[in-house]
Amino acid sequence: MSTLLHDILTGGYGAMLARAEAGVIRSATHGGHGDAVQNAFTLCCFLFACACFVLSLKWLSAPTTARKGNHIGALGMLAAIVGALVSSEVVHYDWIIVGMVIGAAAGIPMALLMPMTHVPQRTALSHAFGALAAALVGVAHFYMDFGKEGTPPYVMAILCAEILLGALTFTGSLMAFGKLQEILPTRPMTYRGQNLVNIGVLSGAVLCGVALAIWPDQTWILPILIVLSLGFGVMLILPIGGGDMPTVIALLNSYAGLSASLMGFVLDNKLLIVAGALDGASGLILSIIMCKSMNRSFTNVLFGAFGQVQASQQQGDKKPVKSTTAEEAAQILGIASRVIIVPGYGMAVAQAQHKVRELYDHLTKRGVDVRFAIHPVAGRMPGHMNVLLAEAEIPYDKLAEMDEINGDFAQADVALVIGANDVVNPAARHDPSSPIHGMPILNADQARAVFAIKRSMNPGFAGIDNELYTLDQTLMLFGDAKAVVGSIAKELSDME
Ligand code: NDP
Repeated sequence: MSTLLHDILTGGYGAMLARAEAGVIRSATHGGHGDAVQNAFTLCCFLFACACFVLSLKWLSAPTTARKGNHIGALGMLAAIVGALVSSEVVHYDWIIVGMVIGAAAGIPMALLMPMTHVPQRTALSHAFGALAAALVGVAHFYMDFGKEGTPPYVMAILCAEILLGALTFTGSLMAFGKLQEILPTRPMTYRGQNLVNIGVLSGAVLCGVALAIWPDQTWILPILIVLSLGFGVMLILPIGGGDMPTVIALLNSYAGLSASLMGFVLDNKLLIVAGALDGASGLILSIIMCKSMNRSFTNVLFGAFGQVQASQQQGDKKPVKSTTAEEAAQILGIASRVIIVPGYGMAVAQAQHKVRELYDHLTKRGVDVRFAIHPVAGRMPGHMNVLLAEAEIPYDKLAEMDEINGDFAQADVALVIGANDVVNPAARHDPSSPIHGMPILNADQARAVFAIKRSMNPGFAGIDNELYTLDQTLMLFGDAKAVVGSIAKELSDME
């Protein structure tokens, strides 16, 4: 899981390499008289980088080695950039330096200032830049080396695919960023015949690519291909709701990787082929995991306009809810033997993980067995909860995946739900009319008592009511998760 999270966090090796490679306009095969030693050094750097990327993905797949994986991935990236910069194929450094300064000026504030809850939009921006670089390198090669009679059709086809994917990922990622940042309306924007129009635009772009493969000297076709691809990126994202953007970003990640890999074929750059393929495959696997965990299909995410259908769910009699105070919750938690904490998106929004750690410390000091139940799509990114809880240094062995812990809720004295909603909604199990029916959920409702912390009775991402809150054994703790968990921890500390 953390492998995949890393891919999202970093924006993908292939995409970053595309940016690095964007500075090197001439490829090894087309550069001519490069210095042999320099090129051998470049090749060694690239080989080392490939090994680092593969190792990084391996290590990122377990929480205990994830940090090491992240570091070796960064080292590989450094080796790739150094290798590209020292290559004898670099014509001059002026523009590379300008690019690096602009990149750093955008990247450093993005990394330092954007909070964890904004990782999806940060990743969307990274993909946009990576994809733009891949598309621009493709365009440069088209005009410099390939857009002439005699270019083999397969080379032109690859180049066109790279430009098409790069351009649509660029605008698609920018749109995803706009929706996640709420600069653009987050609701799905749909109209009649939308899918037909979208397919038409995409087919137009593909046909331009086919035409260029057949008649490579007809350079006037390329701008049409670019405009259609840019347009398709926008149109692809319009009908998708803001909440589905993380899944879409994972998919765009995979497109960006594919585009970088194709660029590797065009440039005969093995590192780009490897890194792009890793990026493309991990992005695809990640989006499949997200779809499976939400019990949705790709087509449903891409064309389902999720987020529009929920209004009807809000009708009908509302059952009363019972609420309680932090003091009462602390008393019950203090005498419990087994407590399962279910973190969700609200914990991330409130940044309550450090208070959760305090609560965990107080409870374990009293001999309470505390574990954390992690739903694969709790929060807005897979691994979101793991990262937050790791940041608060909660022991990894206390975190249990859904399948591992679901059977234990029935023996738990208390399920403490902190800002989680859809991932504990029992309707997913038994109500076929529910939009989340079939989505695997955590069985918090089977615990003897349930405390649910949230600010109001507002719904979660799926926009539907949650019957967990009205069960006999459930008590609501209304308020900001950080404040409420902090108050419970304080009450427990006063009781010590
Ligand atoms: P939900 O989005 O279902 O619910 C979050 C809850 O947190 C809300 O009900 C909200 O209620 C509460 N909340 C928000 N802010 C605070 C705060 N400051 N303090 C206390 N509570 C707060 O979250 P879940 O984690 O249960 O479910 C994730 C959802 O996101 C699922 O539907 C999943 O399918 C979807 N999703 C997840 C992806 C992933 O990869 N993780 C990707 C795409 C979608 P209130 O406003 O009343 O406080």
